[in-house]
Amino acid sequence: MKLLVTGGAGFIGSNFVMYMLEQYPDYEIVNVDALTYAGNLENLKSLEGNKRHTFIKADITDAAQMDRLIGQGVDVVVSFAAESHVDRSIMEPDVFVRTNVNGTQALLEAAKKHNITKFVQVSTDEVYGSLGPTGLFTEDTPLQPNSPYSASKAGGDMLVRAYHETFGLPVNITRCSNNYGPLQFPEKLIPLMISRALNDEALPVYGDGLNIRDWLYVEDHCSAIDLVIHKGRNGEVYNIGGNNERTNIHIVKTILEQLGKPESLIQYVQDRLGHDRRYGIDPTKTMTELGWKPKHNFETGIKETIQWYLDNKDWWTRIQSGAYQEYYEKQYGAR
Ligand code: NAD
Repeated sequence: MKLLVTGGAGFIGSNFVMYMLEQYPDYEIVNVDALTYAGNLENLKSLEGNKRHTFIKADITDAAQMDRLIGQGVDVVVSFAAESHVDRSIMEPDVFVRTNVNGTQALLEAAKKHNITKFVQVSTDEVYGSLGPTGLFTEDTPLQPNSPYSASKAGGDMLVRAYHETFGLPVNITRCSNNYGPLQFPEKLIPLMISRALNDEALPVYGDGLNIRDWLYVEDHCSAIDLVIHKGRNGEVYNIGGNNERTNIHIVKTILEQLGKPESLIQYVQDRLGHDRRYGIDPTKTMTELGWKPKHNFETGIKETIQWYLDNKDWWTRIQSGAYQEYYEKQYGAR
């Protein structure tokens, strides 16, 4: 099987590419990534020399190039490529619409033309909006995105749905909760707090710190997408979540405790605009219909993740210094 994976130099995409190549010794992956600030080829170092993995630097909004690449015998498209950081979407919404809406449409058009057998859109629970103290997001929860990021993801999802309803494209949409694990860009909560704490810098916590996220270990996310590719019913949405709701302040205190740093580093800052209060995923459909079960328990998963960032300080300091961007030039010439 030949997969075209977009965004495979980012956090979840790179974990997914490595996971699939290991699971399926006869699969081939074309990995398409524009290498924005969030794309890091160093994430894929372990695949150097692997003939089943081809990296192509390309932008998913480039319709002609997506057409050419998907036209080269691709069976399945799995799309992770996105602008993914909510704070950046508040400052700069236009690039979010460009990649997350227009880019998705360019991929769908190429997928339709070349009769692929599956198109998986990797989306987010944030399209459902915010929950009160009770209840969980199901696949039937109405979409009520609150940030430019989630609105642009919802826009992409709606196009995916429309290509199924209108053209019969064999699609699935997955909506997962917050991922954690190795290789996450250090602007996101867990790696950001770890790196700042290690430098004895203040840890900025939005509002009262009581916003709740439902944490999912990245490898468990990858195994769910694997099942969706092979067993998902066309046109269906699958929610993926680990039933691990934790407040942000709980996460920050866990990090400080494991690193042996004082809670006095915590600094409450003005809340994020439109900050969703609570996300919680009901993954029953994915578990019962596809037989998915997360392997990682949160308490051990978070400890292992913190340890990974301690063991791979070089990886994230190279991101913070910008040095990771030189890697592409060394491998492939100027960016
Ligand atoms: P990330 O920001 O780490 O990676 C995104 C990747 O997409 C980067 O490698 C970047 O270079 C690439 N990219 C961006 N714009 C592109 C373009 N126009 N053309 C080609 N490549 C482009 O993101 P992530 O955390 O790995 O998230 C992957 C997907 O999962 C996203 O679609 C995101 O919406 C979704 N998601 C993430 C989380 C999470 O907790 N990280 C939760 C729910 C959903």
